[in-house]
Amino acid sequence: MNQNKIIIITAPSGAGKTTIVHYLLQKYPHQLSFSVSATTRPPRENEQNGKDYYFLNKEIFQQKIQQNQFVEWEMVYEGKYYGTLQAELERIWKTGKIPVLDIDVKGALHIQRRYPESSYSVFIQPPSVKELKNRLESRGTETLESLEARINKASYELSFKDHFNYTIVNNNLEDACREAEKIITAIVRG
Ligand code: 5GP
Repeated sequence: MNQNKIIIITAPSGAGKTTIVHYLLQKYPHQLSFSVSATTRPPRENEQNGKDYYFLNKEIFQQKIQQNQFVEWEMVYEGKYYGTLQAELERIWKTGKIPVLDIDVKGALHIQRRYPESSYSVFIQPPSVKELKNRLESRGTETLESLEARINKASYELSFKDHFNYTIVNNNLEDACREAEKIITAIVRG
């Protein structure tokens, strides 16, 4: 029944997307599965290869682009590639689950265009760019340069919010999680 659906959770970095994705995966462990992206950025502390990302070097990533192995890929930041592998989606579909993609706005638009009938996209909107900056600063994972790049990108990405199937304004993370759950429940059961 769930065969070949795709759930896309997209947002500017720092909008609470990852927390919402984890919440949904924990609510629906038998129906949903995290789609592990490939990236050329280095792992952060606590990140595991094959669980958080497939950490690849640039040469291998570019080879996979040439071989058409990605359903979408983007150079998201600072020369770093991120992409969703066709094989990853196939792997999840085979288990009868729905892949949940935590990807940037451009990647989300590509997937939507590629799978117009079977993809469901949810845009998580931060309350404001100022609040987003506060969140990213307090997360403390970014250098000043990377923080600035993420804020600039966020302002641009916010302009695409009307392109997605659902929008959730994340004023309060708990409410946002519950709202996302309602949306996903309908998709899982539908
Ligand atoms: P981070 O470096 O913080 O893990 O991720 C940076 C951004 O890249 C986030 O917005 C994340 O959602 C996005 N991202 C992660 N995987 C993919 C992917 O496979 N494709 C695209 N287009 N973006 C991705």
